[in-house]
Amino acid sequence: MPVKPPSLAMPRCAAPKLKQHDAKTRYEAHRESSTKRGYNARWRKARLTFLAREPLCWMCMTRGIVKGAVLVDHWFPHRGDSKVFWDTKHWAPLCESCHNGPKQALEYRGQKALEAGWGKITAARDRMAGGGSDLLQLHR
Ligand SMILES: [Zn+2]
Repeated sequence: MPVKPPSLAMPRCAAPKLKQHDAKTRYEAHRESSTKRGYNARWRKARLTFLAREPLCWMCMTRGIVKGAVLVDHWFPHRGDSKVFWDTKHWAPLCESCHNGPKQALEYRGQKALEAGWGKITAARDRMAGGGSDLLQLHR
């Protein structure tokens, strides 16, 4: 009777009941908790203060759309570096759909894409601060 040879496949992720094709789910399963990554009470207070000062999504602004921001994004990944984490000059108020869509696409494409995106959103922010009439005319 033929015997099935042992599998030569690499062991799979040990995280229980996760779909192997879902890279984001795997990433989240192995990531430290948000509190351990620095998103503590100090962060929650700082983000609320920032959102009170910058209530609109800057990525939406680049398209002439006025939409409320719901989160503060570290535009450039801080990777646990507390100096980068707390450097407000690269914080960006975003709506959830911009954060989870185009912003993540920029992160996937890398540093140059993030730098180009940062240039666009800060230009839009500065134009809105100056009245933004040229931006808003795009969607009338
Ligand atoms: Zn947005």
